Amino acid sequence: MQNELIKIRRFLKERLQRDYTTLHGHKTDRENVRQLLQRTVELGESNSLLLIGPRGSGKTTLINAVLADLVPTADFQQNTILVHLNGNLHTDDKLALKSITVQMHLENAANGKAFGSFAENLAFLLACLKSGNKRSKSVIFILEEFDLFCAYHNQTLLYNLFDVSQSAQAPICVLGATCRLDVIELLEKRVKSRFSHRQIFLFPTADTFETYLDLFEALLSIPNEKDMKQIAERVSHLKMLNSEELVIHRNHFDPAKYKFNKKFMENWNNSIAVLIDDPKSAAMISLRSYYDTDKSESFLKTLLFRLVAQLDPDSQPHITSEQMCEVISSYTVDPRVEVLCGLSVLELCLVIAIKHHSEIYDRDPFNFEIVFARLGKFAKVSTTMQGIERAVSLKAFERLRHMEVILPISSVAGKIQKDFEMHRLALTYGQINDAVHKYQALPTEVAQWAHSSIL
Ligand code: ATP
Ligand code: MG
Repeated sequence: MQNELIKIRRFLKERLQRDYTTLHGHKTDRENVRQLLQRTVELGESNSLLLIGPRGSGKTTLINAVLADLVPTADFQQNTILVHLNGNLHTDDKLALKSITVQMHLENAANGKAFGSFAENLAFLLACLKSGNKRSKSVIFILEEFDLFCAYHNQTLLYNLFDVSQSAQAPICVLGATCRLDVIELLEKRVKSRFSHRQIFLFPTADTFETYLDLFEALLSIPNEKDMKQIAERVSHLKMLNSEELVIHRNHFDPAKYKFNKKFMENWNNSIAVLIDDPKSAAMISLRSYYDTDKSESFLKTLLFRLVAQLDPDSQPHITSEQMCEVISSYTVDPRVEVLCGLSVLELCLVIAIKHHSEIYDRDPFNFEIVFARLGKFAKVSTTMQGIERAVSLKAFERLRHMEVILPISSVAGKIQKDFEMHRLALTYGQINDAVHKYQALPTEVAQWAHSSIL
């Protein structure tokens, strides 16, 4: 049984991290991109397309999913070359062209030749693909971080690629992916006019909490044998890809390695279903707040990865409601509490003194004198806080005001002596309690004093 859990943990971790081709949703977009590529591969049409969407919205996953769909076709295997370029890696035309040459397996042909311009060089490469009188091979250019290519000198690479795709010199498809919504504005006029203006905008798929929950369940459940086989088949297709730069097929998680005990698997899937069954449970309420912060699947995956990584045969055999609440609460921090945790012990003691004053006098305003007197009482009986100087405390009090932990209430600031100016507290008691709880290495007596004003 222990082994089963470890297997499940490894399977889920691998799938969450290294499943590059399973796309959820985006059915029509996927179909459109597939048809476009298919037309290039089968009919030799030239095309260009931009995928636009925020980071982590699944652009790369969509491209990979479409490629995995197309790989098994004979046309694709015999007739197509994939060229992957990334704006972060290929930072100028020369590097890009070198990489294109390598990925087209044309280093030998191009060796020793001198080219006048980028266009000549590209034309030569594409011409090499024509063998005899047969139709030339199709080339699919995938440009990740497309917007960065716009910063090239004169946008030479984009100009030439789009020019070839528009004038049908050779069957190529240019597929760009970018997170910049205004990417079209970045294109120079002569480049823009050569682009087909096909654009697909991708946004997170889970637009209701219910679909989000379905996704949650799907990502944590172990698929049945039939589905496992399907995924394994896709992965074996990917292995046929021969593009040098493509890491997805070498690194892709392989479900064929896993065989699960049927009973244990059912139990596991059941436990996940039970977890999300009750919409009013604490776990679901905190998951809701997580969803409200960010709906994207990549954000959900980071949460699930943490949950799965904590599984342990002895102490944590299932994902529990408490565990979920705890992990999610570490994402949704209160910035005010963080500010308090960054204070010095003396400053925090002042905040605690203010809290006691506010509790006793029903949130009455206070000045430094009042707070210092209260702090003095504590300091007298404490072992760690003895001998606090007034001037130092006043400085600390001013710092609290500076950070807007406390706010002055009078508008005639400056006219009254600093020690007597009235202030009010700009925090809730809960925030102070949280900070006392979270503060690293707070002296125990200070923590005790925070919870009870009786000395
Ligand atoms: P970037 O702009 O940073 O390149 P991207 O749009 O290419 O981001 P991906 O790399 O495709 O984003 O996705 C990021 C993560 O989110 C991956 O782990 C991916 O599996 C997951 N993801 C996002 N959307 C989907 C989706 N619709 N289906 C499946 N997985 C998704
Ligand atoms: Mg990407």
